[in-house]
Amino acid sequence: MDRELVARAQRGDEAAFAKLIDRFGDRLYAVARRVLRSAGRSDDAVWQAPIDIWRILPTVRDPDRLISFRNVSRGRTATRNATPRGCESASVAADGSQSGTMRPIDRPRGMRKPRRPLEIAPNVFEIVLGRVRVHLIAEETLTLIDCGLPGSSTSIHDAIAAIGRTPSELRRIVCTHAHFDHAGGAAEIAAGGDVEVLMHAADLASVRTTLADVARRPGRRLFVALTPQLDRATPLADNDVVPTLGGLRVVHVPGHTPGSICLHAPATGLLFVGDALQARLGKVGFASRLYSDDWHAACRAVKRLAALDVNAIVFGHYPVQRDDPNGLLRRLAAEAEMLDRPAYEEGTR
Ligand SMILES: [Zn+2]
Ligand SMILES: [Zn+2]
Repeated sequence: MDRELVARAQRGDEAAFAKLIDRFGDRLYAVARRVLRSAGRSDDAVWQAPIDIWRILPTVRDPDRLISFRNVSRGRTATRNATPRGCESASVAADGSQSGTMRPIDRPRGMRKPRRPLEIAPNVFEIVLGRVRVHLIAEETLTLIDCGLPGSSTSIHDAIAAIGRTPSELRRIVCTHAHFDHAGGAAEIAAGGDVEVLMHAADLASVRTTLADVARRPGRRLFVALTPQLDRATPLADNDVVPTLGGLRVVHVPGHTPGSICLHAPATGLLFVGDALQARLGKVGFASRLYSDDWHAACRAVKRLAALDVNAIVFGHYPVQRDDPNGLLRRLAAEAEMLDRPAYEEGTR
């Protein structure tokens, strides 16, 4: 599977590259951060590594070396110091084009289909796609909240079929933010039918970022550059109400990305948070520091959530949290108040 992904990425398939980054990103960044910090370099330099990998991919002869943890560790020198030979001819989209990269990634033989969607509330199903959880609201028509990595359409269509519905009933995709693991599948899923894609205006603008842009100025924009561009999309604003689940209200929580939103359904008490919160090792906390554009803003934005009446917090990467969500949000909001105090210890990656 990994070899196949690397081979596709070597041919310039951005969807395959996105999947590799999703799979190995944590380890890559952990190693890069450690090494670069000890070398006195800033965190920003961490974001050079995946771009260098993308550049040198076409010239890599032994994919196993690239994808093994030990060699990601060694590879930091390769990526840090490499003069990426072949860079000019490599398929970093010099013209910014992302065409031809949105095809679904077929499941390799022997790989299991995704689990049957779990009904987390009446008519609300959680679809687990590897590390990502997307949510399907099955009413007269279907609404998706987030849609996974580029290449997720086959798995999502399977999940829709597994609950006895058909993909042609899908009418809208609401993206909690533009990162490739949440909005990556939107273009390919929407291409097939009458599907509206909705995203906060501040993130819609960033989807136009290409790998070529990121190659010029590496950074967290990599995660939006790997989101295939959308032909058409509807911008969302704070307090907009999406007509599903009795009214799904948009709560703008900028920080993880400028256009990150949570979606609150007062009728059911569900709060979809995307990556605005995380629950690593079962502990609910602020957004990932490493992957957030403005982590302090992301923490402060949580104060807004404490005012909502919530029965369950629904994450983009973790199981649903039903244990005293209101108390939990209030505690996080109080913690956010402490952020500017010098003694505050950052407890996230
Ligand atoms: Zn994210
Ligand atoms: Zn995510």
